Amino acid sequence: MLQSINPVNDELIQSYEEYPQEQVYEIIESSHKAYLKYSLSSYEERAAKMKKVSVILREGKEEFAKLMTLEMGKTISQSRAEVEKCAWVCDYYADNAKDFLKDEIVETDASKSYVTYNPIGLVLAVMPWNFPFWQVFRFAAPNLMAGNGGILKHASNVSGCALAIENIFNEAGFEKDLFRTILVSSKNMKSVIENERIKAVTLTGSTPAGKSIASTAGNVLKKTVLELGGSDPYIILRDADIEQSVKACVTARLINAGQSCIAGKRFIVEKEIAEEFTQRFLEELSSKKMGDPFDESNDLGPQAKSELREELHQQVEKSVALGAKILLGGIIPEGRGAFYPPTLLVNVKKGMPAFDEELFGPVAPVIIAEDEEDAINIANDTVFGLGAAVFSKDVAHAEFIAKNRIKAGSCFVNTFVKSDPRLPFGGINESGYGRELSPFGIKEFVNIKTIFIK
Ligand code: NAP
Repeated sequence: MLQSINPVNDELIQSYEEYPQEQVYEIIESSHKAYLKYSLSSYEERAAKMKKVSVILREGKEEFAKLMTLEMGKTISQSRAEVEKCAWVCDYYADNAKDFLKDEIVETDASKSYVTYNPIGLVLAVMPWNFPFWQVFRFAAPNLMAGNGGILKHASNVSGCALAIENIFNEAGFEKDLFRTILVSSKNMKSVIENERIKAVTLTGSTPAGKSIASTAGNVLKKTVLELGGSDPYIILRDADIEQSVKACVTARLINAGQSCIAGKRFIVEKEIAEEFTQRFLEELSSKKMGDPFDESNDLGPQAKSELREELHQQVEKSVALGAKILLGGIIPEGRGAFYPPTLLVNVKKGMPAFDEELFGPVAPVIIAEDEEDAINIANDTVFGLGAAVFSKDVAHAEFIAKNRIKAGSCFVNTFVKSDPRLPFGGINESGYGRELSPFGIKEFVNIKTIFIK
């Protein structure tokens, strides 16, 4: 049984029966049949349907936003913005897929030789609850435009969103069954990954889930793209604009109540400005309001699941036991719901969970660096490598560090990390591999085929 539980008050919203294995196989088979027909359609036909998806998203914005906020607790304004962003990614690939996947002539000894991009079949998407619409659309838009079909296994706590998304693709007029949701818990996913109709798997989720899915898929030689966790370092150099960097760091840490893979998760400050930065950081974090995510005056709602709040709190407590100090928050509030307050930790060092692990919630560790070199070393001292940011008034110097010194899939200068349909998104090391979005994303799950004519 899958359950959607309102994280504001711990009340059950709805239970969903898991689909039995035979039903899952039937869905996959129907989806495969739909793909066989759909894969022969033109880019123009696909684009017209994808444009319809963005219209449905914009028209239904309020309804979809409410569903997300209800099931996982993000603020209603952030839910609305998420729906808008989904419409954007649909438009982006509808407008550009044909160009991204056009044949590429290569001069050889052939009379004609070129590269062409064929669809590969059904792509299985295992998705997380933290951006329950955005994560799915950023996979679905490029894949459907490339001519593939999609099977969605969403996180168990957002089945309402999963079914709503399936409906949207149906309503938009895509081949019946081309995009299907399966309601299956993670423990029953092995046989789905192994199903012969599934040609590749994309996962956005935790590193342990990535390891498990990649090994199952690897055993049956299926390609995977993994977008996993992160512990994004934000370096604040001594010549940074403190006001600007504090604002960016607080936004980066609190967006989605801290539950974003690309949230700022370690704030590394050069010692000359550490005191001033920490004081302003404290003031700014203290000014943020936590509460009902449907109340537009609140900056953050609850955590999405109470068990994850417990894990986060344990990470804070262990860090404190090892010498970290709490300047703000760090206490589970009384009452119902999975609320966790904005929390500021100082005296954070390597060996503490707040330094070594991903903090998937509104907890900001400040780490003091002796100098710039030390700050860069601390930033890179992680098993992850998703995003990073550097703050300095010397933009050229910060750009040099971003480009050449930071080990991560992206590095932003003087602002916080965010995803954008036009830019590749993904990580290195335990943050995963492969890229989503941009022309790189649409080429992950296509057959890059050589044609050679004598
Ligand atoms: P999670 O527990 O890994 O779950 C993600 C998805 O994977 C869910 O659908 C889950 O299903 C499924 N799953 C988990 N273990 C599985 C297994 N062994 N086999 C098959 N499916 C499995 O992660 P989460 O708690 O939902 O999300 C938080 C994590 O995702 C964080 O680490 C965050 O950084 C990462 N994330 C990364 C990105 C990125 O783009 N890099 C974006 C967002 C989030 P169930 O719900 O049924 O368990």
